[in-house]
Amino acid sequence: MKTSHNMDLRAWNTFGMKVSCACFVEYGTVEELEELWKMRHGMSPDGLPSPFLHIGKGSNLLFTKDFPGTVFHSDIRFISVLEGAGHQYQAGVSAAEICADLAADGKMLVEAGAGVLWDDFCLWCAERGLWGPENLSGIPGEVGAAAVQNIGAYGVEAKDIIFQVKCFDCVTGRRVAFKASECGYGYRDSMFKDSAKGRYVVTSVVFTLSSVPVPRLDYGHVKEAVNAAFETAGNHTEAGLSSMLVRNVILSIRNAKLPDPAVIGSAGSFFKNPVIPRSDYERIASVARIEHGADYEVPHYDAGSGFIKVPAAWLLDQCGLKGLVAGNAGIYEKQPLVIVNLTGNASPSEILAVEAMAVKAVYEKFGVTLHPEVEHV
Ligand SMILES: Cc1cc2nc3c(=O)[nH]c(=O)nc-3n(C[C@H](O)[C@H](O)[C@H](O)COP(=O)(O)OP(=O)(O)OC[C@H]3O[C@@H](n4cnc5c(N)ncnc54)[C@H](O)[C@@H]3O)c2cc1C
Repeated sequence: MKTSHNMDLRAWNTFGMKVSCACFVEYGTVEELEELWKMRHGMSPDGLPSPFLHIGKGSNLLFTKDFPGTVFHSDIRFISVLEGAGHQYQAGVSAAEICADLAADGKMLVEAGAGVLWDDFCLWCAERGLWGPENLSGIPGEVGAAAVQNIGAYGVEAKDIIFQVKCFDCVTGRRVAFKASECGYGYRDSMFKDSAKGRYVVTSVVFTLSSVPVPRLDYGHVKEAVNAAFETAGNHTEAGLSSMLVRNVILSIRNAKLPDPAVIGSAGSFFKNPVIPRSDYERIASVARIEHGADYEVPHYDAGSGFIKVPAAWLLDQCGLKGLVAGNAGIYEKQPLVIVNLTGNASPSEILAVEAMAVKAVYEKFGVTLHPEVEHV
């Protein structure tokens, strides 16, 4: 276990905010986490300063000021194929039976520690020809947070491949495990972010992976890009399709439109896509037809019950915000949904100012309020 005081958090948030925390604790095992729980509850002489915050790589966080309490980080890092023995997945059914059933369908369970980098896990799978997370390749952050956030990209969400999430319960001090169906998963949402926020620390995640190809290429331009990669490789048959090829295609699509946090600080998509009543959508669509021509269609998705989801990126783009520069901060030139720390020296207040500008511009033009996807701390 490593403990530091007055720790600089610049390396712990992809926005690169120069903030600090009173105490930073990194633990490497569930047993160490249990020890920390005792300290946190005053059962040990070395109490930890409150409030408490558990982070991964800080790629979905905006630190708005110095954090006055203790920041925890998991360094539980392992990836292993589960055979069944020594595990309990479901009451009344042996783990060996579950693994045997999955194996009959070419599937297997693989467990990864919460502190494993998400993309290292994706690479590990692709290197072994396993299918499951390839469309989620390149998403920053760690395995634990991926299960909290229900990360998603190119038609796949983490919940689609999660079998079980293993946690430490900060209320009871016990270890618990949840099946994916018990995690309250929704669009970029879970009970860990919502009703049970702060209660559970994810310690590891069990995934269902497939050794039989299960490509999901129907989203956006993925199929076209995969076909182009086939052409380049001189291989025109589907038999040449591997999870590594899909991973590499996804990485090149992402690299072309998203900033690399190692070069330009950001937290990815800053705003959620707003879900608005159909009448509001019709109003926006008629204004867009005046501006762009009678055949113009505003991008949208039916969200059910008379509601429509409109991409926040489109709304921001229509306000001319792509490439905005405001001091050290701004909006990414290739993707208006991404607020960036342009010079590396932006302060939290500069990022917040760009956020406020974007919200105001969209509200004034469309009457729609954008809400941040990125968690403000
Ligand atoms: C350039 C860029 C591109 C991105 N692209 C995508 C994308 O395509 N799709 C997508 O879904 N997201 C995307 N994101 C957002 C981000 O990568 C994900 O939300 C990611 O899962 C955050 O992981 P993290 O380890 O950095 O978590 P953090 O940002 O550190 O934390 C996120 C949340 O999880 C909690 N948490 C972290 N670890 C644990 C744990 N072990 N137990 C309990 N709670 C925990 C934190 O308290 C916090 O509430 C992108 C971000 C960037 C910077």
